[in-house]
Amino acid sequence: MIQSSSDVHHTNTSHPDFNNTEIAFKGKTDKDLNRAYWLFKIISSSFLTKIGPVLANTAIKTGLPVFPLIKKTIFAQFCGGETIEECNATIEQLAKGGVGTILDYSVEGGQQEESFIHTAEEILAIIRKAKNDPQIPLTVFKPTGIIRFELLEKVSAKDALTVAEQAEYFKAKARINQICRLAYDLDVPVMIDAEESWIQNAIDDISTEMMRMYNRDRAIVYNTYQLYRNDKLSSLKADIFLAEADGFIMGAKLVRGAYMEKERERALNMGYPSPINTDKTATDNDYDEAVKFCVEHIEHTALVAGTHNEQSCRLLVNLIDQHGLPHNHPHIYFSQLLGMSDHLSFNLGNAGYNVVKYVPYGPVRSVLPYLFRRAEENTSIAGQTGRELKLIMIEKKRRR
Ligand SMILES: Cc1cc2nc3c(=O)[nH]c(=O)nc-3n(C[C@H](O)[C@H](O)[C@H](O)COP(=O)(O)OP(=O)(O)OC[C@H]3O[C@@H](n4cnc5c(N)ncnc54)[C@H](O)[C@@H]3O)c2cc1C
Repeated sequence: MIQSSSDVHHTNTSHPDFNNTEIAFKGKTDKDLNRAYWLFKIISSSFLTKIGPVLANTAIKTGLPVFPLIKKTIFAQFCGGETIEECNATIEQLAKGGVGTILDYSVEGGQQEESFIHTAEEILAIIRKAKNDPQIPLTVFKPTGIIRFELLEKVSAKDALTVAEQAEYFKAKARINQICRLAYDLDVPVMIDAEESWIQNAIDDISTEMMRMYNRDRAIVYNTYQLYRNDKLSSLKADIFLAEADGFIMGAKLVRGAYMEKERERALNMGYPSPINTDKTATDNDYDEAVKFCVEHIEHTALVAGTHNEQSCRLLVNLIDQHGLPHNHPHIYFSQLLGMSDHLSFNLGNAGYNVVKYVPYGPVRSVLPYLFRRAEENTSIAGQTGRELKLIMIEKKRRR
């Protein structure tokens, strides 16, 4: 069992050693390790990562039975199962290593009312499952799973809505309120993922509204800040001041941001200045500055550091020390994705920090876009796949 965020302990003062592969891969059998090794090898080839989705889609269209193969390989690496129940083994496995679970319903694309209703029901089921379960300390949802993308875009641009659109938006916001309300009633924090900048204003406004209502005593609702955006460090600071002045707890998930190429391309095509920082160093600086600012305002701010960046994790570890905070301060979580950066998650968990992994789930066919994105991301992030491979090889050698 992982520790409850409320039973703060002061005994574990050891620092995590991110090179400890024994702890990092303790829950992996030799077979799991071999699968991970080959997967990251394949993913590291940008050629294979590009043709993989094409091959998979062609195979699906021609009726070849590829789903069992996908389920045993890339799905097994990055997903917990096809249903909430199927994720139980993964939840237990992570908990053994001191790591919590965020069940992430990763079905994408459906932009019809019935799909939104279904997704909202799934999120409510996750919140109910998380109630009183210290192994699931946080929950999450993606706004475009609940509200139509074009509607969010129109609201973000402050375009006038038709009467029908106003009614649709009202209904969609009511669905989000229902989710946050249940999270509040059952005392289960819920995070709202961040998406493209041109729909984000609407998401930010809804998140603030929800926080104002439900974060009076503790952090129930978290918004997400993408620090690759050149305006997000200042808006995070402004929002923290607002929360302090207004008397609610600010919930902030900090990420670098996942839509960089798309953002730059749209800005270029439409002729407006790119909202993305000019280089990686600027993003890294903003991210680390955001982490520092949150820790400096930890009384009124609850922070989830969603990152695979070792430097940023180390920074947060040091800040916790410098401010004399317990490792498992209820306002501080580290978070990574299932199947990635186990050397961070499990070594942090072992040293008594609050760590949670996103555990994506859903029918294999429906989570394919998520899986292809993971593959692509691991190819495009210089060094990330190399690091994963190196650590797996060290552990394979250690076990011989
Ligand atoms: C738990 C968790 C939750 C997440 N939730 C979200 C979410 O809600 N919304 C979302 O958008 N993403 C989300 N992400 C993904 C995240 O935004 C990053 O894409 C991913 O984690 C890689 O960043 P990093 O900090 O792990 O590592 P790093 O490898 O250090 O950073 C890579 C990131 O740096 C930025 N970057 C790279 N090159 C440049 C450049 N030339 N100029 C400027 N910036 C650059 C990009 O954001 C890139 O993704 C989440 C990630 C995690 C682990």
